[in-house]
Amino acid sequence: MRNKLLRICAIIIFSGAVSYPCLSIVYEQVPGLGSPEITEIAKNVLAVTGLYHSAESGFTVNAGIIFTDQSVVFIDSGMSIASGEFLWQVAEKRLKGDEDIYLILTHNHSDHVFGMQAIKKRGAKVIAHKITGMWFRRMPGEQYKKFLADRDGWPPEKADSVYGNVVLTEPDEMIDQDTVLTIEGEEIHVLVTPGHVPSELSVYYPRSKTLFAGDTIYEGSELTTRFGGLVEWKLWITQLERLNKLEISTIVPGHGKLCAKEEIDRNINYLRKRIEKRDKSNE
Ligand SMILES: [Zn+2]
Repeated sequence: MRNKLLRICAIIIFSGAVSYPCLSIVYEQVPGLGSPEITEIAKNVLAVTGLYHSAESGFTVNAGIIFTDQSVVFIDSGMSIASGEFLWQVAEKRLKGDEDIYLILTHNHSDHVFGMQAIKKRGAKVIAHKITGMWFRRMPGEQYKKFLADRDGWPPEKADSVYGNVVLTEPDEMIDQDTVLTIEGEEIHVLVTPGHVPSELSVYYPRSKTLFAGDTIYEGSELTTRFGGLVEWKLWITQLERLNKLEISTIVPGHGKLCAKEEIDRNINYLRKRIEKRDKSNE
């Protein structure tokens, strides 16, 4: 009975016929979706937390959506086509149909980009760091999917079922320095914040004082530092100190719950300790 109910709910959600409160119901029936929850952080600014992640229990990934009069801006696309599709359907409920669509990818990792085609095929202009473009050329979707499946010991069928038909194409606009997008007079600041990886971007929306931090900020968990060393971790701290100077009401981290500015200090302290540990051990 429970399974049947879940299935019905998933079908209703994918038909786009329900309002947000129903959307936090469990979604195990849809591979690659997780249990997303939508929070309206400020008027016309949504955070989508709890999207599927292939890491063991409890770890999920986040995304965001900003609506202006004539545009919609997605920040990240989840780890599967199902997640990207979900984000699109959440946004579509508010659209008239003639809006300009943007997708900003905070970095090149699978958990933030695998859903991109679901949004791109609706006409989105994709914006990312130049290094993300380089990675997509080097490892397009199928290859990246196979890499993860081999790493995790998944049969190809499982990867197809969970991730979907992942296609990573070169972003339409590639940046390597802070860039202000002006959309109908409203500013969206795309900040280059390397540390976790060199392609890392953070998105700051001054109107609502929201920071979509990608993996520059983790909430409540250890930070993933294995992609860098001392130089990168120090750079990461510099970027966090820079973000700390912004006027921020809400942070949408790449992973974990929505949080406040104090989380930036926790991330800085985590990295300082990581550096100290390495200095002592001469790793
Ligand atoms: Zn991530």
